[in-house]
Amino acid sequence: MTNQNAQGQSAFESQAQTAGIHHITAFVRDPQVTSDFYAGVLGLRLVKKTINFDAPEVYHLYFGDQTGSPGTIITFFPWKDSRKGSIGGGQVGITTYVVPASAYEFWKVRLAKLGVEFQESERFGERYLQFADPDGLRGEIVAREEGANSEWSFGGVPADKAIKGFGGAVLFSTAPESTGRLLENVMGLTKVGEDVGYVRYRSFGDLGNIIDVNRAAMAPGHGGHGTVHHIAWRAKDDAEHALWRSHVASSGYQPTPIVDRQYFNALYFREEGGILFEIATDPPGFARDEEPEHLGEKLMLPEWYEQHRGEIERLLTPFEVRALEGI
Ligand code: ZN
Repeated sequence: MTNQNAQGQSAFESQAQTAGIHHITAFVRDPQVTSDFYAGVLGLRLVKKTINFDAPEVYHLYFGDQTGSPGTIITFFPWKDSRKGSIGGGQVGITTYVVPASAYEFWKVRLAKLGVEFQESERFGERYLQFADPDGLRGEIVAREEGANSEWSFGGVPADKAIKGFGGAVLFSTAPESTGRLLENVMGLTKVGEDVGYVRYRSFGDLGNIIDVNRAAMAPGHGGHGTVHHIAWRAKDDAEHALWRSHVASSGYQPTPIVDRQYFNALYFREEGGILFEIATDPPGFARDEEPEHLGEKLMLPEWYEQHRGEIERLLTPFEVRALEGI
């Protein structure tokens, strides 16, 4: 490392801060069922239909706001024959979606009308509508002022009521104090409060920015459908991403090499509480291979898989993004 690089690295490490969540990735079973819930019920946009680059017989589906902005992207690997997972320590326990401040009642009525069971719960003085998706993934809706409104309207959800993106996440850790120290000391979040059972951390972005760590050291969960696989944090560009990698390594974690995920670059490391963390770059985003008005319409493959397109398409179950009837 040259002196100049070393200086840049140490300047970065002294003030490294992620803007917040980039995306969250989970295991499910069926692409149609998943689309019917995340587009049909929650009103998100399918912004990319591609494959798991490590297992090309499995879709990788990305849902988010109109462009799949960082901080709005929930992604799925639908794998029909996967075992049922169990939610527990070492996972994102609950994924938090944020809606405009005026939209809480709209969502309460909508979930009831669509037959989605929910419970109302309170933390840090905020009300949450908590539900499970058809595979058992836990989600919740909170209403807040901060964060730009989505411009996407679908299936009976007008843009001014739509999910803006992630409010944040509730982390279930096998070592919650270590997870909290990592969020503060490495990821650059600020501890902002404690409530019964939770410690709250905040990042500087206005979406995907509020992380509640469950204070109980939880028994490990097991991966499988109905569980989150990893949570990704934002790096603003490739230069910062390289700095993040060194920073994570010098903080005692073992980051993977940087890998090309087509729509962002990624690195991964497992934290002491068992949660798989990723750091992902904001660019290039989902418009790199489809026009913004046609995102998610075609199966997109990275060029190294294009020669196998016929074979890959035969292995994937077709599905459609559709509005639910009766709305
Ligand atoms: Zn990821």
